[in-house]
Amino acid sequence: MNWPFEYTYTQLPDTLWARVDPIPVRAPRLLIFNDALADTLGLSPWLEDVDLAALFSGNWLPPGARPFAQAYAGHQFGHFALLGDGRALILGEWCTADGQHMDLQFKGSGRTPFSRRGDGRAAVGPMLREYLISEAMYALGIPTTRALAVVATGETVLRTRALPGAVLTRVASSHIRVGTFELAARINQTTLQALADYTIQRHFPACAHAKRPYLALLEAVIAHQARLISQWLHVGFIHGVMNTDNMSIAGETIDYGPCAFMDTYHPDTVFSSIDTAGRYAFANQPTMGIWNLTRFAETLLPLLDERPDRAKALAQDALADFGRQLQQHWLEGMAAKLALSKPDSTLIYDLLQHMADTQQDYTLTFRYLAQWLRQQTTPLPQTASWQAWLQRWRNGLTVPPYQAADLMDTVNPCIIPRNHQVQKALDAAEAGDMAPFNALLNALRQPFCDNAATRPFMAAPREDERIMQTFCGT
Ligand code: AMP
Ligand code: MG
Repeated sequence: MNWPFEYTYTQLPDTLWARVDPIPVRAPRLLIFNDALADTLGLSPWLEDVDLAALFSGNWLPPGARPFAQAYAGHQFGHFALLGDGRALILGEWCTADGQHMDLQFKGSGRTPFSRRGDGRAAVGPMLREYLISEAMYALGIPTTRALAVVATGETVLRTRALPGAVLTRVASSHIRVGTFELAARINQTTLQALADYTIQRHFPACAHAKRPYLALLEAVIAHQARLISQWLHVGFIHGVMNTDNMSIAGETIDYGPCAFMDTYHPDTVFSSIDTAGRYAFANQPTMGIWNLTRFAETLLPLLDERPDRAKALAQDALADFGRQLQQHWLEGMAAKLALSKPDSTLIYDLLQHMADTQQDYTLTFRYLAQWLRQQTTPLPQTASWQAWLQRWRNGLTVPPYQAADLMDTVNPCIIPRNHQVQKALDAAEAGDMAPFNALLNALRQPFCDNAATRPFMAAPREDERIMQTFCGT
């Protein structure tokens, strides 16, 4: 029986996609599979008699599957390039019980017409890294693509050294990117409009009824990104490669390359080895968000109004709201992290300044603050300026301290995927031992719980454990 995949995307002009099959691998071996996600998707009944390693490597195609790769463009570190799924393809769109279409995508499944000089493959380390961090983001309540499986291919991929190969199966609301619109706009207006209509129908159906549907689309994408980036800031997440081809129109965190969570708080923190100029530094992410959204708005100009001046004015007004929305979400979230009934921006900025000045761990600081409310003791510095800040903060609370502390512990994670822990788990996995990876994953699935599962992963890295750089590993 055919699997019930849909292929709505392939009704778009064929300049935006290409029919491609995965290239079989030598010796597929399932490293990890996300049972809970398969259940949520309603996929489990289809998997009962299936060899999961064969399925999630692309060696066995479900009947009825007609995989395709997407074409897109993008600004990478500010420079325009024609791109596309060079090592990925969409197995199919899967309809969930609530009627959503989810892309099931293989990453590392072999060359495609968009591979350029790449080998179309991926390595075990980076694919498990994406699995771990995207699932951690999900548990933190931050919109993200998710991970369904990683299969080791039994083949070697050649990077700076020879690495074990892997295929990741990723699940996303869609893989439409700002870069997809950049490509469509360069093809012609018919293609652009088809993509815009498709996007509205798939992600923002309410926009179809707006007076100006394409302006409503722009506003919706801006609103989702403002919220998403504010949530990254709340947990200390640094995406690392916020190129326009890595910005999802649906507002999900996508493409976990050299991303990382900050340990010690500093707004200029950068981990990515290729981001030498700090373009995608922690505190620069809102600026890069609006930069990318401006590229998106430019593609939509011909659809916003026939008069170019009017179209530009409409786009500028919409873009101008991004900063206000982001600031508001950010302040509200920071207020919640401190159990304040309303945002107090001076208090919040003073805290961040103290954290930077005394090199505090971003994540643990908020847990220590709750602890101080309960016990009046804290590992935070006993300096006069910290003491003054603590008193000022407590005096501003409108709920009893123990209640504020409990509230804080429901929004401030005690664990995040810290680089040194992630690296240890990946090193073990590469050497054939998945136990450390599974233990860390299990802990990251309950980030607000201080318990036996999470405690081993809570501490900030010691000086000799600190990892200063992350790599794309592509
Ligand atoms: P990324 O940095 O993962 O967002 O990738 C940027 C672009 O390079 C995308 O179009 C990828 O499909 C492509 N790419 C990355 N690695 C490979 C590879 N090993 N083979 C072919 N294309 C690749
Ligand atoms: Mg990408």
